[in-house]
Amino acid sequence: MSHPTASGPAASPFGKAEILKRAKGFCAPFRISEGDHFRLDRLDPTDTLHLDKSDKKAAQAVLAEGVELLAELQDKLYAQDRWALLLIFQAMDAAGKDGTIKHVMSGVNPQGCQVSSFKAPSSVDLDHDYLWRANQCLPERGRIGIFNRSYYEETLVVRVHPELLARQTLPPELVGDDIWKQRFHDIRHYEDYLARNGVVVRKFFLHVSKQEQKRRFLERLENPEKNWKFSAGDIQERAHWEAYMDAYEQTIRHTATTTAPWYVVPADNKWFTRLVVAAAVIDTLDGLGLAYPRVGDRARAALAAAHQQLLAE
Ligand code: ATP
Ligand code: MG
Repeated sequence: MSHPTASGPAASPFGKAEILKRAKGFCAPFRISEGDHFRLDRLDPTDTLHLDKSDKKAAQAVLAEGVELLAELQDKLYAQDRWALLLIFQAMDAAGKDGTIKHVMSGVNPQGCQVSSFKAPSSVDLDHDYLWRANQCLPERGRIGIFNRSYYEETLVVRVHPELLARQTLPPELVGDDIWKQRFHDIRHYEDYLARNGVVVRKFFLHVSKQEQKRRFLERLENPEKNWKFSAGDIQERAHWEAYMDAYEQTIRHTATTTAPWYVVPADNKWFTRLVVAAAVIDTLDGLGLAYPRVGDRARAALAAAHQQLLAE
């Protein structure tokens, strides 16, 4: 397989066709559209394809060009007002969700973008089915919606901590050994339903290594300006690392589909994570064949009349 290059003679300025081609090359290796034999331990969080640290600057330039193209695609998405794009981000703490969202979406018009963060559910949330709160945050047509964590926590943190399932006060006869399989089934069908309504779903697992998480936690503890990012609970969750990895593997295995694929993005190098996520968003939007709405004959005549009227003032 030929890998995309971040540098090289034709590096900059990049034409649109070249950026789209590179975007495909950067995201395709990490897309999981069929999860049957998915194994998380076969994937390397330090992977940067053929790029190394010396390519970091060139990769950032590619990202900047990509962000510009993304803004253009989003403008068409908004103008066309047919499709919505839902980007779901899941990760262990300190994997870089917030920074990735910030960088990848840095060029887009805030009017066309909505970010929702899902924390532990409130008592009102717990009085409803688990998709209820997420369903209210879905992006409108023409918009990009970002879920910073999502209903996927229902087969991740809730699976790792059975006491959280108990808090949901479901009728006991509905909580059997099959509950996770049932949740996977429901989520797959929910995402099919969204796809059939014009909501394009793409899911990102930022795959950081346990060792890199430790390094980032230490940095947060040792650097006063980063102290605010650390919470004591993060260390407790780290103690359940293996259980989380199992839960992620099962979740991806059972919910990766062609309509709503997962991208398992290596997350030990932030510059590479951002490149892959931007590439996947660009590739997805490009696949929608977006175009500005064409003005019909009657509307064009009205525009010409308005034009004349203004010139005559
Ligand atoms: P950051 O740490 O960067 O601020 P975060 O996404 O980790 O971002 P936190 O407030 O630290 O935000 O954590 C939110 C917590 O809420 C996570 O531990 C997550 O597992 C938990 N959570 C989210 N959804 C659910 C859910 N449905 N049930 C139980 N816990 C949930
Ligand atoms: Mg956190």
